[in-house]
Amino acid sequence: MGNLLVIGAGGVSSAAVTKMAMNPDIFTKITLASRRKFKCDEIAENVKKRTGIVIDTAEVDAMDRIAVIDLIRESGAELLVNLALPYQDLALMDACLEAGVHYLDTANYEPEDEAKFEYHWQWAYQEKFEEAGLTAILGSGFDPGVTSVFATWLKKHKLDTIRQIDVLDCNGGDNGLPFATNFNPEINIREVTAEARHWENGDWVTTPAMSKKVEFDFEGVGKKNMYLMYHEELESLKTHFPEIERARFWMTFGDAYINHVTVLQNIGMTSIEPVMYNGAEIVPLQFLKAVLPDPSGLAALTKGKTNIGDIVTGTKDGVEKTYYIHNICDHEACYREVGSQAVSYTTGVPAMIGAAMVLKGIWRDPGVWNMEQLDPDAFMDMLNTQGLPWHVHELKGPVDF
Ligand code: NDP
Repeated sequence: MGNLLVIGAGGVSSAAVTKMAMNPDIFTKITLASRRKFKCDEIAENVKKRTGIVIDTAEVDAMDRIAVIDLIRESGAELLVNLALPYQDLALMDACLEAGVHYLDTANYEPEDEAKFEYHWQWAYQEKFEEAGLTAILGSGFDPGVTSVFATWLKKHKLDTIRQIDVLDCNGGDNGLPFATNFNPEINIREVTAEARHWENGDWVTTPAMSKKVEFDFEGVGKKNMYLMYHEELESLKTHFPEIERARFWMTFGDAYINHVTVLQNIGMTSIEPVMYNGAEIVPLQFLKAVLPDPSGLAALTKGKTNIGDIVTGTKDGVEKTYYIHNICDHEACYREVGSQAVSYTTGVPAMIGAAMVLKGIWRDPGVWNMEQLDPDAFMDMLNTQGLPWHVHELKGPVDF
């Protein structure tokens, strides 16, 4: 049915590409390209071993627009899936426009020298994609991604309006290491060290990073401390559901993780300001990434489950209702199926499903879209059949934290 080019060959890409190969009726040709070709070849080998499918691999710098355009043309792809880093989003969107192909990513654009988590750079491409008759899908991971589709599904099927939304992201996995991040360490640490921000009564409320903690009993995982954080989908959710009074994002962290991040932050190792060392300019956070474990190598070690979802309060026929909708995913089951841990899996599978929506022609309106703007039904069906089943139940009332 469709031919696509995937850029980036890290943890998320490995899970996404393996799942694409498991759906050969949708993904008839897959080309995987990244900065270092050997990473693509490792994924290609895993894909061949598990599915018998052969994928093409190539080396490309995502920032080299001309090289990306040439590769798109050479591969004959109609969709580019960006599973590299947020820094490359705009360069890849430009390449898609010039080559005339659709675009999909899992994280919003970030300038390397500022941790902003804002959508305006990508939203500014709305007219260009519309005029070109091309579709750009932003944030087709789990959060952002599935959690935004969950909200749209609730609004379509269970609620007339959404008053409050809390996104709860719990990783109950344990890899046995003293400190490791579950996805790209640089992006992960930029997120957790940023000030917390949530949307309340028409304004952003800012609080110091990791200063608000709540214990929550997660099904399949147990009681965990979750921390209020800023996360990019809050901006798009409050924009696309203008009736929302409060939107918050919570993520669980163990005490050891918090202690390590606190020390690293106190000694300046999480800074993105360049420093001179031995005559060369280095960014402390990028150096830290280089010495931390590679998340894609943690898959075999990680045990336990993730539980990610939304608690949403709104009204239906004038009556207030609260729903909890979530997915539980098992690290070891993901490893058995595709060779990845659950954080890569829960991001890679929605990227695969988003790509399927584009290739099948279900999400094809020209323009730039966040996930909550698109019809949720076919995507929600595929979550159930592609390894991320979801559960929804009504709660007695709104959250009290
Ligand atoms: P990794 O660091 O494991 O992988 C990134 C890949 O991109 C690497 O293969 C890297 O190459 C490649 N890359 C980096 N720069 C370039 C470049 N200039 N040109 C070509 N390739 C490049 O990251 P993850 O797999 O953990 O994360 C991938 C993306 O998914 C990130 O944007 C992350 O923010 C996002 N994400 C989204 C989530 C969601 O739920 N929405 C959750 C988790 C992650 P090399 O191997 O040479 O370093």
